[in-house]
Amino acid sequence: MMTEPLQTTSDSSTMPTGGPAPFVEKTPLERYLPPAKPSLVGLSRAQLAEALATVGVPPAQRKMRVQQIWHWLYVRGARDFDAMSSVSKELRATLAARFTLARPEIVAEQTSTDGTRKWLLRLPGEHAGERPHEIECVYIPETDRGTLCLSSQVGCTLTCSFCHTGTQRLVRNLTPGEIVGQIMVARDRLGDWLGAARASGEGLPTQGERFVSNIVVMGMGEPLYNFEAVRDALLIAADGEGIAISKRRITLSTSGVVPNIARAGAEIGCMLAVSLHAVRDELRNELVPLNRKYPIEQLLEACRNYPGLSNARRITFEYVMLKDVNDSLADAKALVKLLAGIPAKINLIPFNPWPGTRYECSDWERIEKFSEIIFNAGYASPVRTPRGRDILAACGQLKSASEKLSARERLALRAMAMTD
Ligand code: SAH
Ligand code: SF4
Repeated sequence: MMTEPLQTTSDSSTMPTGGPAPFVEKTPLERYLPPAKPSLVGLSRAQLAEALATVGVPPAQRKMRVQQIWHWLYVRGARDFDAMSSVSKELRATLAARFTLARPEIVAEQTSTDGTRKWLLRLPGEHAGERPHEIECVYIPETDRGTLCLSSQVGCTLTCSFCHTGTQRLVRNLTPGEIVGQIMVARDRLGDWLGAARASGEGLPTQGERFVSNIVVMGMGEPLYNFEAVRDALLIAADGEGIAISKRRITLSTSGVVPNIARAGAEIGCMLAVSLHAVRDELRNELVPLNRKYPIEQLLEACRNYPGLSNARRITFEYVMLKDVNDSLADAKALVKLLAGIPAKINLIPFNPWPGTRYECSDWERIEKFSEIIFNAGYASPVRTPRGRDILAACGQLKSASEKLSARERLALRAMAMTD
């Protein structure tokens, strides 16, 4: 519930002359207030050591205790201090009196006919008595891998015109615990912990030891507008003695927050995906209004300088296929030219429609021709197959139930999704 009108900011210095003030971004209006008994999930090793200090664990023991708890949390998925059999009974009781191992609460779980799973998670709001927030987290299984798509914010402060999440008004940054918590929930539900009973069902990976082998930060929110929390969470996910997902299997997608791209490379070291979607500033200003602040040239310069960039570690450029908007064959040729010299993959994403949108997905024939031009120029150009459309889990359709679709809208959406 908002008591203030939505605040907007715009940067007049980059305003196109003559037009109205561009609407670039909203301001987050909500803060996170920790519960009385905080969860240990999402604390760094140093923060965990501090937490142990507050309950009187002597300095000489802290490192070893951190190691033990880390293992129980992130290798075995302990949900309860009592499970930590290598930790003394006394310390377990002391910890349980002050902390929890809570993950975000699961409100609903849906499994698509193609095996995609989506969890609706509940997070506390800022003010007591207010409706809590809901975010979604999606698991996409393939034969040889399982990719978990994480959200980084409730809603998004940016307002990309083709994105459903951008229409949500209320925004709050997630905490590292809430971001890591999404991984915990998925692995809990899939039985993806050492010694746990593994889930069975349609579409789950049949190769590899892990159900969750890859992470993409491509759900709700702009991760580089919640930089510290996303960084801290991803460093936990990559920690070799815990969740241990290699940084090469972690991809962060940004709409182009240029100053934080270099930071992501230096401080996280994960793979980068950039939501490009247009080859001209004029059009990109409209599709991704953040382009008014950080135009294409600046964005590509940041990409060229991304640490660790090589043919083996390419940047993925995402390009949503919007009928008669950005899908001409001249656009495809211009795209190839624009990216010349950058080790890149180009990911064509069929637009996922949502009720009330003014865009349509490009015709399949056009997507194929577009893809062919890119392929002939020497780029891999996989078309990202929409997954989980029947449960509304596909790109850009993640929008929390705090702004629920009516049953009719849902049906309309399903019908659209099924008939393309
Ligand atoms: N905020 C980040 C990450 C989340 S969006 C970003 O914008 O990159 C993840 C991807 O889905 C982005 O490439 C985004 O542009 C794309 N997307 C958003 N809405 C979409 C829609 N309706 N159909 C297809 N892709 C969409
Ligand atoms: Fe935010 Fe990304 Fe959606 Fe743009 S596409 S509104 S940056 S979530």
